Amino acid sequence: MDDEGFRLPKEDDRSAGDGTRCVHAGLPEPTPGAPFLPGPVFAAPYHLDPWQGPAAAPNGYGRPDNPTRRLLEAAIGELEGGDCRVFASGQAAITGLLLAVLRAGDTVVLPADGYFPVRAFATDTLAGNGVRVLFAPTAGPYPDFTGVRLVLVETPANPGLDVVDLPALAERAHTAGALLAVDNTTATPLGQRPLDLGANLVVASGAKALTGHSDLLLGYLATRSAPLLEQATAWRTVTGAVPGAFDAWLAHRSLATLDLRLARQTANAEALARLLAARPDVTGVRWPGLPDDPAYPVASRQMRRMPGVLSFDLGGAERVARFLDAARLVGAATSFGGLHTTADRRAQWGDDTPPGFVRLSCGVEDTVDLVADVTAALDAAT
Ligand SMILES: *Cc1c(COP(=O)(O)O)cnc(C)c1O
Repeated sequence: MDDEGFRLPKEDDRSAGDGTRCVHAGLPEPTPGAPFLPGPVFAAPYHLDPWQGPAAAPNGYGRPDNPTRRLLEAAIGELEGGDCRVFASGQAAITGLLLAVLRAGDTVVLPADGYFPVRAFATDTLAGNGVRVLFAPTAGPYPDFTGVRLVLVETPANPGLDVVDLPALAERAHTAGALLAVDNTTATPLGQRPLDLGANLVVASGAKALTGHSDLLLGYLATRSAPLLEQATAWRTVTGAVPGAFDAWLAHRSLATLDLRLARQTANAEALARLLAARPDVTGVRWPGLPDDPAYPVASRQMRRMPGVLSFDLGGAERVARFLDAARLVGAATSFGGLHTTADRRAQWGDDTPPGFVRLSCGVEDTVDLVADVTAALDAAT
């Protein structure tokens, strides 16, 4: 088995459709008698060649080396259009990037409205390490990037779903000598290819729509820069935030259906966004695919498909609870991107959102059933 994985030739990468690319991503060359996707390799140490030691084979010890993980990295790398390293979680990938790249005295720009634990990490740990931390709202305005080492954006941002024009921001960052990293969790590599849009790095949680079954934690980083890849790899090897072989295998198995899952999730999000926007008892509906959403002009230009996540406000915590209690197809749960439709009142986690603010993640249920259920639950909650 070629454990570096089967890569579609470059020209196929561009011409094949999303479904085709997902099904084939990272698979080894067909070998008679071998499975399509090899099962997980469980190993801490591997047998070594007594004479050559670790130089003889790519697998010496499980922290740096695992063939199941390498196949998953080949797969995600193909979809993002760069080289990939997977981590134990999205937070491991994002904090790893920040800690590996930033030194005392450096300045970093982070989203003011992005994933809350990243902001908490920046004010607690990064600032404590002597890094200057600036926050900018995803939709702007952004500060002057002179003297900035790294700009990290989330687009669409979780949970507010604002977007930023990536080619324009990349140009500004690069003119100032800053690196641009994009958190691609909400979009997934099928929704948006930040490396094609000028970003130096992609980071993301693989626990959300990328793998979509609500059964694993995963993070990744992707880049076309050999030095950045080397830095991230060295960081991961010494800090050890690697996913286990079984989770890596499950993630790869789930990746094959990404195109199908997203297609249904986007269709469901569109139907629910229209339903919610038309109701007088729901305010602040945000979905970047709605033509009158503030994010629509940029999102429709740079995104290849719209996310299955939307947000809105039901006015208070109690009404959200009544809605969730009445809904039969909307599970009360955090996270998003899974097969089952879920909704989360973000303020219950200490996120700085209004008490009635809801992030709703569309699953792959039939659209007609979901629309009927959400309508009935909202009626019951009024
Ligand atoms: C969930 C999430 C993360 C963190 O990922 P984990 O896998 O939970 O560590 C980071 N960024 C965004 C946008 C997320 O939604």
